[in-house]
Amino acid sequence: MSTETSGTPKSPIVPTQLGLDDKFRFRCHKGIACFNKCCENIDIMLTPYDILRLKNRFGITSREFIDTYTVDFTMDGHGMPGLKLKTREGSTACINLTPEGCGVYPDRPAACRYYALGLVSMRRKDSPIEEDSYFVVREDHCLGHNEPQLQTVRDYRKEQGVDIYDEINHEWRQIILKKRSSGPTVGRPSQRSFELFFLASYDIDGFRAFVASSGFNDVFDIEPSFKHELMQDEAKLLKFGFRLLKQVLFGEKTIALKPDAAHKRIERYAQRQAASLAGRAEELAAAHDKLYESLGE
Ligand code: SF4
Ligand code: SF4
Repeated sequence: MSTETSGTPKSPIVPTQLGLDDKFRFRCHKGIACFNKCCENIDIMLTPYDILRLKNRFGITSREFIDTYTVDFTMDGHGMPGLKLKTREGSTACINLTPEGCGVYPDRPAACRYYALGLVSMRRKDSPIEEDSYFVVREDHCLGHNEPQLQTVRDYRKEQGVDIYDEINHEWRQIILKKRSSGPTVGRPSQRSFELFFLASYDIDGFRAFVASSGFNDVFDIEPSFKHELMQDEAKLLKFGFRLLKQVLFGEKTIALKPDAAHKRIERYAQRQAASLAGRAEELAAAHDKLYESLGE
């Protein structure tokens, strides 16, 4: 099972573009002879909402999840950070695979839900919005294509529960797409922008602490009731993080800055410089300071 969709001579992608109401033949079920085969050789890129669901399933922090269940990769030539689902030690099998099947089935990532469909989002040069298309991914080991069940893409999406994933990840996908399509014209984002991208995209617990900090409050003008909602609702916090990333990476200003934000940043930086930094809490505060600096770049 792979989330890669780029064409190669051996690509398993059937080159017929499908819309939501187009039908395709496929059924996966426990009794099928190839059961678990697709999870024995994986290459799955994780989205922010995948991580949120999985870390909550395991009852661990996003940082613990990242350290235990993911591997780093870069999404583009500029080094945009990405995460893939880890495989078992010395194997290509998914770390969540059990003899009974997927060990995290109700919270499995979007890519696992989509399979055997591939999703491709494209934006035409003359259009501000991207369009989604679907393709059947037909791999030799997968016998689900021989089953008689015929369904529309729309029904399959519903059955697999991908809507909530797409809804929450939508703006994040836009950021990736915009970053890719703008290519070198936008230039390489700063290291601090990448750190903010990582924090807002993957480390939701760290991002919550960042948004809750007094330094963030010094820079951004956010209604206390909205901030309270962000602290309580992780999906809302993720979406807010994507807005912040659009602001930092592309200058799309949707989050108001306090009038004296620049002055406060300098003041805070000076205070930190004067203070003797010791211990994890101070390290964290110093890391936050670096991120505040990137917000004004
Ligand atoms: S998360 Fe579950 S469905 Fe996805 S590859 Fe791993 S075992 Fe398979
Ligand atoms: S039918 Fe395809 S998706 Fe289902 S278990 Fe077999 S290989 Fe995996």
